[in-house]
Amino acid sequence: MPAADTAHSSELQRRLIEAIRRDGPMPIDLFMQMCLADPVDGYWQRPVTIGARGDFITAPEISQVFGELIGLWCAVAWSAMGQPRPVRLIELGPGKGTLMADILRTIARAMPALHEATEVHLVEASRPMREAQAERLAATTAQPPSWHASLGDVPDGPAIVIANEFLDALPIRQLVFDAGAWRERVVTCNAGGELAFALGAHAGDGPPGTARQGDILELRPLEDSLLDQLAMRMGPLASLFIDYGPADAAYGDTLQAMRNHAYVDPLATPGANDLTAHVQFAGFAEKARSRGLAVDGPITQAEFLGALGHATRTSRLMAANPAEAGAIEAAAQRLVAPTGMGTLFKVLCVRSPTLPVQAPFA
Ligand code: SAH
Repeated sequence: MPAADTAHSSELQRRLIEAIRRDGPMPIDLFMQMCLADPVDGYWQRPVTIGARGDFITAPEISQVFGELIGLWCAVAWSAMGQPRPVRLIELGPGKGTLMADILRTIARAMPALHEATEVHLVEASRPMREAQAERLAATTAQPPSWHASLGDVPDGPAIVIANEFLDALPIRQLVFDAGAWRERVVTCNAGGELAFALGAHAGDGPPGTARQGDILELRPLEDSLLDQLAMRMGPLASLFIDYGPADAAYGDTLQAMRNHAYVDPLATPGANDLTAHVQFAGFAEKARSRGLAVDGPITQAEFLGALGHATRTSRLMAANPAEAGAIEAAAQRLVAPTGMGTLFKVLCVRSPTLPVQAPFA
């Protein structure tokens, strides 16, 4: 690890331990929040975290086919809304800006009227990421994109929202079923002065049900405010959430830390690695419905991309670049292969109930 990263991580660890000694053991969501979002030593302050030279790779960075097919989905969604002008194209957690660039290039070609009607809004917490997005998107729209700290800050009106690997980055709480009741899983400081997991206080808000000793239930409180903000928006809304996690409710510890494309101990070097957890799609869909939103899916990423023309788009790209055909095919396959992202990743559409079931979920 570069010396600067080691220094930031040691400093963050020192402050975490200080906070635990002062306030007591901390729930996992607070730990994640400090590790990711601390304005000085947090993970999001680090440059180049996504891509071959970073810590992890995402679908738009693997193959342009991903963003192109999502661009087509946007065109179909806009038509289903009655082609409102302007339409806000909102991306949550746009990373390096690659997905948005691929979407915009595709709609400029496939549906120029949508490209003209599009206002780009980016919701991004990380300053280095915002800088990467500004550079990547400099020449893609007539109007420069606007950046926001929260979806609630994006002006009202018809909107298409895209979120790829955004929900997994929102902090989770973990409840452990112990002796017939749910207890908060916490991060504490052990006798040796190191961070360690422990069982904390009883959590009154755990559901009853069929849990067994040791089962872990993961809750993501920030989903509620995100869905509140979606439900409050005026005008037709179609949003797409793409992420890894089970379609049906499942117990288990899915907290993971990644650095240099390898799993590492989530407690070992706070702030120096990406921290995420699986998305519980069933719970997320249920929360959306309870707010009056309609939900399509989830379906697997392989089903979603397949139905939008993954095979045709890949063949065309290979034919246009014969020298790179092998690499193009291998990358595009990774998006849909069961051993790659095809089945672990799910796609869920959250929309206004006034819109029809969105393609290709029908
Ligand atoms: N969608 C991109 C990046 C995924 S990584 C891609 O597919 O490549 C997660 C992204 O969400 C990063 O840009 C991260 O900085 C951002 N992010 C995470 N939590 C956030 C939050 N609470 N608010 C805004 N942005 C957030």
